[in-house]
Amino acid sequence: MTTVDVLRPALYFALQSLFRHVKVLRHGEPFAAVKTADTFYAQHGFTLDISAWGETYVVCCPFCNDTRNRLYVCHAWGLPESFGRQSWRFVKCFNDDCLKEPGNRRSLAHMVFEQAMFSYGKSDVVLQASPGAPKRTSGPVSYPGVCYPLSQLTGPHPARQYVISRGHDPDELWRLYGVAWCMDACSQALALASGRLIIPLRAASGDMVSWQARYMGETDWKLTPKYYNCPDAPRSGLLYALDRASSAPVLVVVEGVTDVWRYGDGAVAICGKEVSCEQATLLIKHARDRPIAILLDPEAWEESGKAFSRLALAGAKFLFRIKLRAGPDPGSLPRPLLRAIVKQALLANYPEFA
Ligand SMILES: [Zn+2]
Repeated sequence: MTTVDVLRPALYFALQSLFRHVKVLRHGEPFAAVKTADTFYAQHGFTLDISAWGETYVVCCPFCNDTRNRLYVCHAWGLPESFGRQSWRFVKCFNDDCLKEPGNRRSLAHMVFEQAMFSYGKSDVVLQASPGAPKRTSGPVSYPGVCYPLSQLTGPHPARQYVISRGHDPDELWRLYGVAWCMDACSQALALASGRLIIPLRAASGDMVSWQARYMGETDWKLTPKYYNCPDAPRSGLLYALDRASSAPVLVVVEGVTDVWRYGDGAVAICGKEVSCEQATLLIKHARDRPIAILLDPEAWEESGKAFSRLALAGAKFLFRIKLRAGPDPGSLPRPLLRAIVKQALLANYPEFA
C-alpha cells in the first residue's frame, strides 16, 4: 500500500509525521453514520449516529506512555460533516481514555491540525473551498478543498516529486495552469480529491469551470480512478488550455492535459481522442484565421482522421494533421523537439504562416 492510497491522506501524513508508525485498519472502508435532523437539542441542527468508523489509523497514544498502539483515529476526524476537529467521538485511547481530558484534546488537535498538516506547505497561498459550497451546473467552481499551489510546496513534497518524475516543471504548472495539490477535500463527497493533483479546467475567459483530480503514481486502475472529475460540472464542450492559446500562431490539438504541459502555449487538449461538436465550434471560433494542427498519439491515426473531418465540416479554414512516428506520445517528447515537429509540418502545409 502506498501512502496516498488511504482515504484521508492529509490525516494519515500528519499522524505519520508525528508518530512515525501508523497502522491502517479496515483499509478503504468508508465511515458510516445515520444523520438525523434535530434542531432542538443538537448544536449543528442534526445528530449523527455512528455505526462504523471504517478506515482507522492506529498510533501510540502520546499521553499515557503507550507502546502498544492504543490510540485509534477514525479517518473522518476533522471533516466538516463529522462536526470538525472538535468531535471527540472519532478519536479514542483504549489504554487510559486519555482524550476525556480537555487539555489532551487541545494538544492533540493542535499537533495534528496546526503543526503536522500544515508543515506540508508554506501557508502564504492556500486555495480553499468553502465547505458545503452550493453545487452548480455551470459557471465558475472552486478548488475542492484545502489545496496548495505546486510552487508553494517545500522541496521533496510528493506532489512536486511526482510531476518532476514525469518531466514537468512544478513551478511552471502552477504559474501557467494553476495546478495545485489537494491536502484535504472540503467534504466527504469530494474525498477522492484528497492527496491528488488538482488540474483546473478553464473556459476561454479564464474562469475555472471544472477540475480533474489526478492520482499521483501508478496503481490498479480497476479499483482507483486515475482521474476524478469535478462532479456536476459539464466537460464535453471544454478545451483544456484554450485560455492560453490566444496569441499562438498555430493551434495544436492534443489528447490530454500532460501533452499540453509538454508543448506549452498554443496546445489545447480535447481530453480524449474525439472532438465533440461543441469543441469543434469553440476551436474554430478561437482560431479565427489561424491554422489548426491535429497532433494525437501515434496509435490514434484513425481518430485523428475523424477529428480532421469534424473540424473541416465545421468550417476550419487551415487544417492539417501530424503523424508522429510509432512510439512515444506527444506528452513524452522534449518540448523543443515537439515544437520543431509542428513548425516543420506547418511549413510543409501552410508556408505562409510559418
Ligand atoms: Zn492514552
